[in-house]
Amino acid sequence: MKIYILADMEGISGIRKPSQVDPQSAEYHGEGRTLMMREINVAIEAAFAAGADHVVAADTHASGGQVRIADMHPRAVYETPGPCRPMPSLDESFAGVILLGHHARAGTLDAFLDHTMSSASWFEFRINDQVVGEIGIEAAWAGHFGVPVIMVSGDHTTSLEAQATLGSVETAVVKRGIGRHSAACISLPQAHQIIAETTQRAVQRAARHEFKPFTPKLPADIQLTLYRSDMADDMTRQGWQRVDARTVRKTISTMTDMRW
Ligand SMILES: [Zn+2]
Repeated sequence: MKIYILADMEGISGIRKPSQVDPQSAEYHGEGRTLMMREINVAIEAAFAAGADHVVAADTHASGGQVRIADMHPRAVYETPGPCRPMPSLDESFAGVILLGHHARAGTLDAFLDHTMSSASWFEFRINDQVVGEIGIEAAWAGHFGVPVIMVSGDHTTSLEAQATLGSVETAVVKRGIGRHSAACISLPQAHQIIAETTQRAVQRAARHEFKPFTPKLPADIQLTLYRSDMADDMTRQGWQRVDARTVRKTISTMTDMRW
């Protein structure tokens, strides 16, 4: 059984201030990477323990680069997402995707570092009029290959969003957002135990085909609202149609055509 782990950074246990996810922060980003590595390896170990025989891990934060390859779990494979391919080797042969260390979509109350793709420019993203964040976008990508998202971890709002978007999915809560720029974290041993137990349950349920892929109706209407009208000007030059000053839309025939 093949399992794919797509790890972001904001929802990793122990990460509680923005500088820990900022590659420019020499002082704190290293600690964030260490915490991320430890949690990815906890999830990999749990996936193998629950019956996986092939585990791929990818680091989606800031275009990848957080993972220290020398510290990777010895049995896993590691890869880095491309700009238009969030999970490069994902295909129909995988039994499930785990979205580790994720965060709520832009505009969520008390969500640690809530955003959708870009904190600088994206206000709201919709697929067929359903507002989705990165959880929905990545789940729709996996759904194209018939692969369900089986587990999502992060703060409490991430868990709520995953359940609202995906329905039946295992979730692990490792922190509570206190406004956007602070989080209250449970201890690492406790968080890692929750990650391990939830991963094992999710993988065992995936083996029993208990999860459904997220498959928005096709062709799909995707709509992006930006913070300023000049940002939408830039998008129309890339083939998007104008809806209003800050919003653009396009019709796609397959979820793997989601590009920006
Ligand atoms: Zn991130």
